[in-house]
Amino acid sequence: MKIICIGRNYADHITELANERPDEPVIFMKPDTAIAQSNLPFFIPEFTNEVHHEVEVLVKISRIGKHIQPKFAHKYYEHIGLGIDFTARDVQQKLKTNGLPWEKAKAFDGSAFVGKWFKKASMGDLRNLPFELHKNGKIVQQADTSLMLWNIDEIIAHVSQYFTLKIGDIVFTGTPAGVGRVDKNDRLEGYLHAQKAFSLIVK
Ligand code: MG
Repeated sequence: MKIICIGRNYADHITELANERPDEPVIFMKPDTAIAQSNLPFFIPEFTNEVHHEVEVLVKISRIGKHIQPKFAHKYYEHIGLGIDFTARDVQQKLKTNGLPWEKAKAFDGSAFVGKWFKKASMGDLRNLPFELHKNGKIVQQADTSLMLWNIDEIIAHVSQYFTLKIGDIVFTGTPAGVGRVDKNDRLEGYLHAQKAFSLIVK
């Protein structure tokens, strides 16, 4: 399986990192070794001094597809989740400055944290789906999917022009504003449509 991530999909997050607004979705990937199981802590890697949380709505692909039209994209997923695209921001800044690929900052072991999956039918309108990340009991990221520059179906359509989507692939749909560093012993809790999607300790 593969993990496909969308970058710069919320205007307020583009602003907070002083990035340029893209004219089409920014795509990057993580290998399957990046997946972190929801019952284990997140371990900060040795090579970074600044890991950021990026809470994101996740989509699990349920059907093989290529060149999917936006109006048919909803047929390619049954489950929605919430996860964290852990990012070594210091490493990423250095790579970006030098015009290099982001993988060392974005695709390391454990960088794709995946919470609980929910049936999409139980989540209401997916174009207006609220979600939150709490750090040590305080809300640090709070948004809903209506703020996406490209919605879930548009993302699936766009991604499938380049990559064949396969059953079990996971799409990270981008993070809203409020990203920030995590430190040892932080507790991160995610809520999707007011339902608890995960609780995670940083080590
Ligand atoms: Mg992200």
